[in-house]
Amino acid sequence: ALEARAVSAWFGGHQVLSRVSLTMPAGRVTALIGPSGCGKSTFLRTLNRMHELIPGAAFGGEVLFEGEDVYAPERRLTDARRRIGMVFQKPNPFPAMSIYDNVVAGLKLTGVRASRREKDELVEESLTRAGLWKEVRDRLRRPGGALSGGQQQRLCIARALAVRPRVLLMDEPCSALDPTSTRRVEETIQDLRDQITIVIVTHNMQQAARVSDQCAFFLAEQGTPGGIVEHGPTEQMFNSPADERTADYVAGRF
Ligand code: ATP
Ligand code: MG
Repeated sequence: ALEARAVSAWFGGHQVLSRVSLTMPAGRVTALIGPSGCGKSTFLRTLNRMHELIPGAAFGGEVLFEGEDVYAPERRLTDARRRIGMVFQKPNPFPAMSIYDNVVAGLKLTGVRASRREKDELVEESLTRAGLWKEVRDRLRRPGGALSGGQQQRLCIARALAVRPRVLLMDEPCSALDPTSTRRVEETIQDLRDQITIVIVTHNMQQAARVSDQCAFFLAEQGTPGGIVEHGPTEQMFNSPADERTADYVAGRF
């Protein structure tokens, strides 16, 4: 499991998250939901130490992966990022780089060496896991930027998977995609769920209901930092939430 304990976050002295605790179990999909600006993306970035790359950003609390402190001083940043991959809202493949090179791009960045044959195998495996292999197997040398938006997003998922992360963080991965591509990405999430810990931020309540096992509802009430109002099994969060604000949010009332 990936476990956040009393995670707080600041930007230039302004606190945006206050003591957020959440356990994200292995082999499960956790959806982070809540209105704009409540700190969902920030929380996601604290989990793989991307938050600390932002100038002026500060972090408090603990993140544990399988009981190990992700922020332990002896632990290198690349270590955290290799084990905890991320996919963003806007598909961001390297547009001029080939599909093949896009998939293996993360290896160098995280210090993994691989032979040509290992790379060939990894490219096929990662593209298969991302649900893109059949569509691109005959054109791996074409530039990543020549793919459709939905294909580019699946390429980004393949790139994240190529370093064999144990956790995949997805920040609104479908919000720039058409319904067909969205369905493909959701199928990919379903296929991956047993193998990996998935945390997905989404504004789409139907999507949260379809893909997640548990949900956490984030809220930042006026002038206060963001936090989790309520979390629980998805079914319960949608059908019998304990907090009125959760009920209003999942019903689309704000
Ligand atoms: P959305 O649903 O719109 O993506 P979010 O829940 O992901 O919103 P965050 O992007 O985490 O929210 O933002 C939380 C708060 O932190 C907001 O008040 C935002 O203005 C602030 N914030 C986010 N990124 C930065 C940054 N790089 N510098 C300064 N403030 C930031
Ligand atoms: Mg966000």
